[in-house]
Amino acid sequence: MIATTIAGSLPKPSWLAEPETLWAPWRLKGPSLSEGQQDAALAWIKIQEDAGINIVCDGEQFRRHFVHGFLEEIDGIDWQRMTTMGIRDDRYNAQVPTVTSAVRRKKSVHGEAAGFCRRHTDRQLKFTLPGPMTICDTIADDHYGSRPEMAMAFAALLNEEALELEARGIDVIQFDEPAFNAFMDQVPIWGVDALHRAIDGLTCKTAVHICYGYGIQANIEWKESLGDEWRQYETFFPALNDSRIDQVSLECADSRVPLSVLGLLKDKEILVGAIDVASQTVETPEKVAATLRAAMEFVDPERMIACTNCGMAPLPRHVAEGKLKALGDGAALLRAELGKT
Ligand code: ZN
Repeated sequence: MIATTIAGSLPKPSWLAEPETLWAPWRLKGPSLSEGQQDAALAWIKIQEDAGINIVCDGEQFRRHFVHGFLEEIDGIDWQRMTTMGIRDDRYNAQVPTVTSAVRRKKSVHGEAAGFCRRHTDRQLKFTLPGPMTICDTIADDHYGSRPEMAMAFAALLNEEALELEARGIDVIQFDEPAFNAFMDQVPIWGVDALHRAIDGLTCKTAVHICYGYGIQANIEWKESLGDEWRQYETFFPALNDSRIDQVSLECADSRVPLSVLGLLKDKEILVGAIDVASQTVETPEKVAATLRAAMEFVDPERMIACTNCGMAPLPRHVAEGKLKALGDGAALLRAELGKT
């Protein structure tokens, strides 16, 4: 009861990439880079295990960017045609590549990394992929002419990748869809369909992570504009609850998302974010337990997994380590408390 996991990313060690920087360039090249990524993943798997995290992951040590890391191995994308695009409904501008012909997966993207991690832990292993709607919001389109159509094309490639990850022994495949709360009304129309295409034929657990973004300035300002209660999720949680996705990952620590919206996901396992990734203050285990306890009003403990709000990539390493430990200890506190009653 109340297993623990993380949303996905963890900081890169300083010898691998510049610390406390999103999407920092690699400090190693060629074979040294591959070795370095493996060593970093090994270190983080061990640190997660020691912190009492039950469902571990590679901390995204093998990729610079959570969307472009996947897109780099896809044909049909012109990386010379970079376009400045307002993304997440124009919340901020990003330099993105352009789709110029039908997309195709050249080869396995994360298969080797997944296999490597599988050989080095007995714990359940999670792997994260970008969701189709978020991909479409992080790339310019000069071929499909319609976002839903382009999303289905990417979903088919994500499905090929996900099936391979499952064959490599991955237990949970999570799709990151931060775009879901920028385009709430589109989620029931085509966002869920695209996710279904991406998980077609999978027998492992599937998850979707939705969030209000990393603690970067553009997101902080956007969050300020959303008012005291963030009720965006009400628009599409019913559709998500009706979906075939097993788990939904949400931010609940120091968040203005009213916990009552969790009541709209009665048929899902909920990854309750109990670690605030926008703050460098390490939570106490008691605070983590309190966040989880508050969520229990709307989620039975059998359906609850303790998690972080979002990725921890931009945090200093010692802070991320402290937060992992707080998460493991906080969940253990609550388990002990529930065991007693
Ligand atoms: Zn997130």
